[in-house]
Amino acid sequence: MFLISGCLIGINCKYNGSNNKNREVVELVKKGLAVPFCPEQLGGLPTPRYASEIQQGSGEDVLEGRARVINQIGQDVTENFKRGAEEALKLAKILGTKFAILKSKSPSCGYGKIYDGSFSGVLVNGNGVTAALFLKNGIKVITEKDEIKKSLSFN
Ligand code: SF4
Repeated sequence: MFLISGCLIGINCKYNGSNNKNREVVELVKKGLAVPFCPEQLGGLPTPRYASEIQQGSGEDVLEGRARVINQIGQDVTENFKRGAEEALKLAKILGTKFAILKSKSPSCGYGKIYDGSFSGVLVNGNGVTAALFLKNGIKVITEKDEIKKSLSFN
């Protein structure tokens, strides 16, 4: 059993109230292989909500207290992002999950690349807050842009 970003199966949990539905990922849930979740909702944020980006750092920096997550109107939502990541980790531990497919580029779920904090669409190397906490706890992460079938054959 593994975890999947909820927006990837069509749940309208994205900041603007929509989703990022991905047919391949939906099939995994239908087969009973995966459980969807949304760390930003688990962290207490509403939907829709203002878009947020990590400022001057990565998810690892947020977890270590070296960077903050700020939304489009300048509100500090760092604690929501950290709480959401902790709740998602709790879910992973309950399920015994060692693998997650997370939405690329998100300040929570992003793996490998995230936005740079300028809200101008610029990407930098780094992971979102939840992805960083998963990796720190030995959970393998890929995104919907990776070869899902190939990754699953190793899990
Ligand atoms: S936090 Fe993750 S699951 Fe929730 S909407 Fe953003 S990318 Fe999707």
